[in-house]
Amino acid sequence: MRAPVLAYIGLGANLGDPVAALQAALLALGGLPQSQLLRHSSFYSSAPIDSSGPDYVNAVAELSTTLTAPALLLALQQIELGAGRERPYRNAPRTLDLDLLLFGSATIHSPALTVPHPRMAERAFVLLPLAELVPEQINAADLVAVQGQGIWRMAG
Ligand code: ADP
Ligand code: MG
Repeated sequence: MRAPVLAYIGLGANLGDPVAALQAALLALGGLPQSQLLRHSSFYSSAPIDSSGPDYVNAVAELSTTLTAPALLLALQQIELGAGRERPYRNAPRTLDLDLLLFGSATIHSPALTVPHPRMAERAFVLLPLAELVPEQINAADLVAVQGQGIWRMAG
């Protein structure tokens, strides 16, 4: 039996009803085997970056899991598929995007998986919700660097 690891998952959606998509995704994360959904951040609304379509809704979830990182990634991709996600082209608008941001203190470089997520430090929609959960793991300079990005914390 492996020791549980704290994994941080970035959630994003910008098609259909993105708030409902994130709420459903949180339920699905809570139902993953060998895992417990501990906390999630507020929901944020952000303008698309390197993407298109309506504004995104984003959040970060904290999972305690004994799954391996590849098994967790597969489970995240199955949840995306269940939400009707298609991949017509890179950075296309999506009903649901689940990214594995951090997996304990692991560094992973495999063809299918890079952890920490390679672009997380440049994205306000990752850094701000992640900073709610683990402020000590966020670099202050990174927060300053993303200050110009349009992002709003949603009420409720
Ligand atoms: P993005 O999230 O960058 O907009 P996708 O969700 O379409 O793009 O992911 C494309 C690929 O990224 C996936 O097939 C997956 O194997 C790979 N990938 C590499 N590292 C990660 C990670 N940390 N979290 C999620 N996907 C990852
Ligand atoms: Mg993704």
